[in-house]
Amino acid sequence: MKKLISIILCLAMLCGIAAVPTYASSSEPEWDGDPVIFIQGFTGSPLIKDKGLDTEETILGPGSEFNIQKILSAVPSIVMGIAIFALTGNSILLSSGFGDLASDKLDKLACLADGSSKYNISTYPHFAEEASAASLVANGEEAYIPEVAITDEIRKTVPDEYFFVFNSDWRMGQIDNSERLDWFIGEVLRITGKDKVDIYALSHGGQTAATYLYYHGTENEVDNVVLNVPAICGTSIVKGLLGDGAANFSMDEISRFLAVMLHTEADLRILGDILPGRFLNDLLKVVFVDVFQPHALRFGSIWDFMDVETYKDYKAKYLNPTENAGIIEKADKMHFDCMANIGEGLRLARESGVNVSIMSNYGTRLGSGEPIDADFVIDTVSTSGAYCAVHGEQFEDGYTAKGTVCNNAAHNHISPDRTVDASCAYLPEHTWFVRGQYHGQAAYDSYTMSLLLKLLLTDEITDVHTSPDYPQFEIAQCPVDAMYVKFTNEISGRFNSESNELLVRNLSAEYSLVIRSIEADGCTFDCERRAVVAPGEELLIPCEGIDDSDYICIEITYARQGEILTPAFTKAFYFTAA
Ligand SMILES: [Zn+2]
Repeated sequence: MKKLISIILCLAMLCGIAAVPTYASSSEPEWDGDPVIFIQGFTGSPLIKDKGLDTEETILGPGSEFNIQKILSAVPSIVMGIAIFALTGNSILLSSGFGDLASDKLDKLACLADGSSKYNISTYPHFAEEASAASLVANGEEAYIPEVAITDEIRKTVPDEYFFVFNSDWRMGQIDNSERLDWFIGEVLRITGKDKVDIYALSHGGQTAATYLYYHGTENEVDNVVLNVPAICGTSIVKGLLGDGAANFSMDEISRFLAVMLHTEADLRILGDILPGRFLNDLLKVVFVDVFQPHALRFGSIWDFMDVETYKDYKAKYLNPTENAGIIEKADKMHFDCMANIGEGLRLARESGVNVSIMSNYGTRLGSGEPIDADFVIDTVSTSGAYCAVHGEQFEDGYTAKGTVCNNAAHNHISPDRTVDASCAYLPEHTWFVRGQYHGQAAYDSYTMSLLLKLLLTDEITDVHTSPDYPQFEIAQCPVDAMYVKFTNEISGRFNSESNELLVRNLSAEYSLVIRSIEADGCTFDCERRAVVAPGEELLIPCEGIDDSDYICIEITYARQGEILTPAFTKAFYFTAA
């Protein structure tokens, strides 16, 4: 999904024979861990037309000819189109410009009315033998290893012979993809001689893995599974883009997301001045509705991005019971069987011995602008099953946990900022929430990355109660966010009557931070005026008066030292009495 968004954003802004590794015999294993299968996000898997024939062509992926010449040839009509659109609001030339650019590519990706592929399309690597990092490296095909910032970290622990990339035709629905995953797991076990695999699955890949666990989670073939921001019940962004509602992307939020994606602390908020949000939104609507939508509606995957209620509505609106019967049959099964009962399915898998962990993000408005709590790309309720307040609001005073899945009175499953109730999540004891983390950006956040590796490669953390360092709710620790705050005597986001010292950490790798003020109702902080915190350093600040309430919001205003033109930041940190 992240890639789809970035492709759309980019468009908008631009206007062999595999070497097979050898494995130790099963009596003498050279690696005592499980093989790891990596499942990437939407549009991540390469797609190849006529694989092995004279007419072979890479449609998407390394070696794709989605080439610069073609993009340049379309620029004049896109530029003219943008100008005319900006002046008159008439989008015909604009969409034909994008249409010219995309039509050839989109035709090769086209599906028929029954959801099957129009052309002979396959993915690569397809077989487990060709999909290990060892095979890909030996064949000079390292470019087929995706998400390097994350996979490189995993490969520091897991030998390349035991690290596998799972690909699937992402146009197809998850009923198909999860069956392919079931087959692939069997192949990996056969090749490596191991009993179980570990799985790391991202975003759309997380939906594939969750669907697999729903149908095959009791078959004793999987040990650790980490679903990172899984699109388990879809995303309302797709609902918005396919519906009649206007998209309402915020340039400020997009600028910040871009900075995180690009791993830069540069202040990209200037983009908001260059590209007004309304114009971008109109442009996205033109690109998506006029150019992509007619194709996308024949992709099973697009239907799986809708929650059950949206599916019912849009099925009635867009699908013909006869012509589109092939799409409907699988999408019905996905929504009315798998999605409708997914919490139960994941819990059953856990009871059967699969260590399923979910990493969910919250605290950011859904990108398309609806007041839905999300990580910009996927609704928090979809990744976790938790109940969430309307974005920008908090649970009312006196709110008590729903307790539909966990009703243990000793557990506090409500987030410190009182916006997420995990007591009704798919897996209340095995879902970790990161406030302010953007979709798929674990690699630029020391905390999220560390949690991911521990859950995937160790058995050190058995649930959200195991370690004070990995509580159920934590805040993102990305250098772009710069500041991290907690009380020294409690886990993140909590305080108690003994709390009298605040820890303030500068997460930036580049800037010293100058603290201008620290404020909270009824509290005083003994902080030196304009205290400076160097990159990576911490400050301990004595405080008083924090034991009088159940809940505190601390606001810190700070600036980057030496950055005269950058406005100061004010960031709110929320704490609930432990
Ligand atoms: Zn619980």
